[in-house]
Formats: sequence, C-alpha cells, structure tokens
Amino acid sequence: MPCSSNGNAPLQQPQPGTGLTVLDLLELHPFTPRREFLPATKAELVNAVARSTAERKESHALGSNWSLSLAGESADDVINTCRLSRHLAQPFPAVLASSPLAHDRARGGGHTVFDSWVPQDGGRHFIHVEAGIKFKDLLVDLKACRLALPTMGAGGGQSLAGALSTGTHGADFHVPPLVEWIRAVHLVGPGGQEWWITPAQSLFARDEVRRLPGWCPDARIVAHDDAFAAVRVAAGRMGVIYALVLEVVPAYVLVEANLPTTWHSIHNQLAHSRVKTWGGVFNADLEVVNEGWFSQNVVDTMPGITGGSVPVGAKGKNPAGIKRPLSDAQSRELTVQVDALKLAMLDIRDLAEDLSGLAPVQLRHVNIAMNLSRTEQCWITRRWAVPATVRDSHLGPVKREPIEQALIDHPRQPLELIGPIIQEFTKDLDFLDLAGATLLYGGEEIGGHGGQVTELLHLLQVQIPQVAYECATAGATSGEALFLILYRILSNPSLPTRIHDAVLDAITSIVGADFKKRVRAGHASDVLDTHNYDFDGAQSGNSAEFHFDASASDYLTFADRVVSLAGEHYPVLGYLGIRFTPGSSALIAMQQFDLTASVEVATGRVRTEDVYHDFWTSLHNAAEQLNGIPHWGEESRQSKAALAGHYGQRLTRWQAMLAELSTDGPRVFSNDFSRSSGLEPSTPTGLFLGEPLSMYRDTLEACSD
Ligand SMILES: Cc1cc2nc3c(=O)[nH]c(=O)nc-3n(C[C@H](O)[C@H](O)[C@H](O)COP(=O)(O)OP(=O)(O)OC[C@H]3O[C@@H](n4cnc5c(N)ncnc54)[C@H](O)[C@@H]3O)c2cc1C
Repeated sequence: MPCSSNGNAPLQQPQPGTGLTVLDLLELHPFTPRREFLPATKAELVNAVARSTAERKESHALGSNWSLSLAGESADDVINTCRLSRHLAQPFPAVLASSPLAHDRARGGGHTVFDSWVPQDGGRHFIHVEAGIKFKDLLVDLKACRLALPTMGAGGGQSLAGALSTGTHGADFHVPPLVEWIRAVHLVGPGGQEWWITPAQSLFARDEVRRLPGWCPDARIVAHDDAFAAVRVAAGRMGVIYALVLEVVPAYVLVEANLPTTWHSIHNQLAHSRVKTWGGVFNADLEVVNEGWFSQNVVDTMPGITGGSVPVGAKGKNPAGIKRPLSDAQSRELTVQVDALKLAMLDIRDLAEDLSGLAPVQLRHVNIAMNLSRTEQCWITRRWAVPATVRDSHLGPVKREPIEQALIDHPRQPLELIGPIIQEFTKDLDFLDLAGATLLYGGEEIGGHGGQVTELLHLLQVQIPQVAYECATAGATSGEALFLILYRILSNPSLPTRIHDAVLDAITSIVGADFKKRVRAGHASDVLDTHNYDFDGAQSGNSAEFHFDASASDYLTFADRVVSLAGEHYPVLGYLGIRFTPGSSALIAMQQFDLTASVEVATGRVRTEDVYHDFWTSLHNAAEQLNGIPHWGEESRQSKAALAGHYGQRLTRWQAMLAELSTDGPRVFSNDFSRSSGLEPSTPTGLFLGEPLSMYRDTLEACSD
C-alpha cells in the first residue's frame, strides 16, 4: 500500500479551453500535459504517482526541464519536483557542527538517523537531500557548511535528480561523474510504491533506515548492484526520485586558467594526450603561480612585457637606442620587478601569495571550446583544486556589451534590440559622400562597387527592423532575433567585409564570454556553476552532445567533421565543446569508457526559420556513423537499434531492473521518448517482491561496513 494518507498533491489543471504549457529553458520543445502535480511533501508525491497509476495515465517527473531532449515529456501528467528541495538531514556525520545548515533548509531541522552508524572518523561527508533541489541552491547550502560538490555539469539551474537522471557531467577528468557519488536512492515507483535502493555493499543498506521520519512501512529496501546501477540514470522511466544520499567533500578552492588557442594547436595536442600518463593537454601541474606551467602559460603570455637588457646611457642621451646586456644582479632585480608587474597586471598577487609553498597539484579539469563561425579560434579552460584557504580572485561579473545588456533588459522584446544593434555596427561608420554613395567604415572607403552601400543601408534601415519585428510577432525571444540578424548579415556577401568582421567580433565576444577572465579562483561552489542566469528568458539555441572512447581517435574525427560542416554551412553561429570524464557504473550513463570524450555542438536558433536544418541533419548522421553515444538530456535522433548497439548487455540489464521495479504499473512512466529509445521493461521475475525485510537481511549478512 502506498503511504499517501493526508497527502493529496496540489495540482494545476488547465481551465476548459486553455492549455497547460510546460516550457524548457530554450523553448525548443514546449509540451502540454493534462495535469501538473506540485507535491511539497513525500506523501503528496506518493499520492500524485498513485493517482496517475490508478487512473492509467502517463506520468513523468519534471525537474527544471532544461533537457533539450524529450525525456521529461508526458501526454497526461507531469510531477513537478520544484517544491521537494530541502535537506532531510544535517550534513553528516556531524563533525562540522560549527556550521550547520540554516534551520529552514532542512525539514524539521534535519533528522539524525544516520549519525548513529556512519563512522564519525571516516573522513567522509554525506547529505540526505530531496531530489528536486536546484544545483545553485545546493551549492550555497554546502558552502555554508564548509562542504562542496566534488564535481557537476556546467550549469546550476538543473534539479539534482533531473541532471543525474540524464547522465549530466562536467569536465573533471580525474573525478568520477556525480552519479558515482550517490550512495542511496529513495524512489517513488509505479503505484506510489517506495523503494530505498543501494548497492549490495553499502553503509546505507541497514535496518535503521526504517527510523527515517515518515518512513512508509511498505517501502522496500533493495540492496542490489544492478538495481542501483539502473536507477541512477533512468531518464525518469523508473519513477520519481524523492531523495538521495550523496557523498560530498570538504570545501576546496578551484583555480581556473582560461587561455586562447587554435584548433590546429589543440588538435595536435589532443592527438597525443593520454590521461593515464598525464600527457598532452592533461599535463599542467599547478605549482606556485610564478613558476612552472602556470608561469609559462598564463603569466608570461601577458602581452607587452619583456626584460633582459637596458638602454645604454642616461635617459635622452642614447638616441640610437643601443642596449647592453644586464649584469647578473640587474637581471635578477629586473626579473623580480617584471614578475611582480605581471602579477599586478593580471591582478593575481593575492593568489600568488596564497599559493606560495603549495605542493604541485595535478590538473583536474579541461574544457575546450571552439567558435564555429571562426573555427580556428579556440579557448581552453583548466582547473586545479587547492586547499580552501586561498582567497577569491576575479569572481565578479564581466562587463556587459550594450547588445548583451539590451538582451538582459528586454529578453522578450526583440524590437528593443534594433537601436543597440544598429549603434554597434555603425559606430565605425562615417558618411563621406552620400550622394556619391561612398562611406568610410573603420577607416576604409567603401562604395561605388557591388552595391555595398545600398546593401548596407538596406540592412540598417529595413532588414534589421524587419527581422526584429518578425521575431516579435512570432513570440520569439530577443536572443533569437539577435541570432537571425547576425546570421543574415554574415550570409550576405554583398555587405562590406568590415561589417562581417564586426559581426564575427561580436560573436567571438558572445561565444568566448566564459573565457574572458584569464584567471579565476574561489570556493568550488562559486566556480562550478558557470551558467549566466542574466540571459534566462532571452536565449536561443539548440545543442547535441556525443560521447566517445577517449583512448581512440573517433572523437577527433567527429570534431573535424563538425569543423568541415561548419565551413560547408557557413555561417554557423555556435560552439563546439570537448570535455573528458571518467567512466560511470550507471548502466546507461553515456560515460561507458575508462575515459570518455564528449563533443558538444551548440548553435543559435530561431523558431521562425530552421536555418541549420541541413547542418544538424549531417551532424547527427556523422555522429551515428562514428558511434557517438548521444546525451540523454540533449537533442538525439538515434534509433532504438542504434542505442541498443551502444549499450549492449548494459541496456538489457537496465531493462530487467526496470521490469522488477515496475511491477505495480509497467506503463505509467513510459513516454514517447522511452518507447522510441528502448527504455522499456523486459519480463519481470518478481526478484524484489519477496518479503522485504528477509531480503534485506540476506543482504545485510553480506555487508560488512
Ligand atoms: C543551459 C544548459 C546547460 C547545460 N549544461 C550541461 C552540462 O554542463 N553537462 C551536461 O551533461 N548537460 C548539460 N545540460 C543538459 C542538462 O543538464 C540535462 O538535460 C538535465 O537533465 C536537465 O536537468 P533538469 O533538472 O532540467 O531535468 P529535466 O529536464 O526536468 O528532466 C530530465 C529527465 O530527468 C527526469 N527527472 C527529473 N526529475 C526527476 C526525479 N526527481 N526523479 C526521476 N527522474 C527525474 C525527467 O523525467 C527527464 O526524463 C545543459 C542544459 C542546458 C539547458
């Protein structure tokens, strides 16, 4: 029997004649469920699932709906988890009692059930938290308790379970993905049946979990490796995860370096990069800031500083500028001064001071990004984890360009962009002789040939306002309008080259925004979340990501193919990203290899015109030909057969676990996405339907910790 007494879930239903629309962040796939449940307690969640099951409705959990795939859609019910966002316990064991969570962040102040058996001196830290919590809130909570997440994806707007359920990952190549840090899953499955699922050998497979507040006597405890490996990445197909026990780590600081580079250079390095031997791009120990890799690659590459010789003679008495070599003492003194000047120019003197005396730290994070409209242009972000005593450096917001500010101020008013866009692209323009149709653009005379002036005036006076108007009429975001205007300018060969260059520079600024600060450092919670919330509501975009064995070369072949496609379909306004993550034990996590290389492609998009239709078709085909495994939470076009080919026996085992955990309603969490992806159950054997306690006791005997 499900435990949902007094727990009728609040729900939203459309008024007759109106729809209930659920939007995703990029407004790629709005959908219209029949009902939206908004449970605020476990009992309400159980009630919602029990109702969907009893009424034979299709249902699916909704996190932040940031997925670009259709994984979270449902024809009937969605269960929005946004109100299930608090901790259930204080972080435990309670060794950091000097900094507990604020009372209102933990239900009832937090239970202490786990404190009695989790070793106090084991050096490990855990949280028991509701699964609808957003990463950005979790990061704040953990920071307040002097703890941190060991790793995460790049954005903090996702819900914890929503991100984990699609295998979301970051770029920490020496830290297992976050699904590997889950220690127990509290799932509400079909019929409202509750499941406490852990590995067979687990600290949390104990009878004492029955003492958890609100524990349902009929909840089943399953300590089983395959069930645990299946439920952690399940795209909502196994039910709604109510809460998780997650292992976290003591607070640490991330030092980040962002460097411009070229595809040619990165490609060569990647071809020879081996993570096991710290070769190629992985070879970058952080020592003190003014020595070793950091000094050579970050500090010494600051433009405009040289040393080594001084002019001969007193100031003004050496017109020929003859130089003589420095004495050793002068050279040492000059080196000290130049080093100090470089640190001052980078504004990292505090960082240098804090890191002095640090033992060398190995690199843990590599994130490569390429500008698809100028494919030679790349950036690389590297991060190192250092002790939490290092002070913050450059964590504040970057200066906004006028167009960016207009987007933030007017996310859904494309007409408001016309002024700033025209201003930006005419700021270097002088009217020389309008009658003779000559203009001066950035100091260069244009006109009199190829109708460039006419084209330019048409663009400024007619096309830009027209596109903005069309986008406004279609209900598009300002980001979509900006994308289409830039796309139209670059697609018009009759416009002056100077305006193309200005547009490409603007795109460089947008695509390279995350890499503008050469160095950043701060508490992991402040560095990990790189999402720019200012632009929410204004965005435009689409993306897909494919995962490959990093020890082979297919990921580079795929990246090369994307570069060619970006050339064939010029102008492609977007980026290509390459990240590496260790393998995952979750059966259908995309990280199937010891080290997985993921290649993500993101482009702008406008709902009024599918300008990249052919680009995306070719790209998805290329990914499939090269056996790229698609991200469950990004756009994928691969068939059930192709996905079965990627996962093989692991998918078969996943389907078997789904069957065992869905006996109370095998279809309730089935949706179009699961059916077209092969995420459907095989035949159940009743493996977990024995008397729960005895099954649990068998496991307990095998479990020593
Ligand atoms: C701006 C942006 C940045 C991104 N950055 C990254 C990145 O750095 N790395 C990366 O790998 N991906 C990234 N993604 C993809 C994104 O993280 C995933 O698609 C993720 O699943 C979205 O989380 P969500 O909370 O919005 O989940 P939703 O989109 O709401 O749901 C995703 C799936 O999880 C299921 N689900 C949700 N909640 C639960 C629950 N409580 N129990 C069981 N199932 C549940 C849903 O039913 C659905 O199947 C990014 C996406 C965007 C839009």
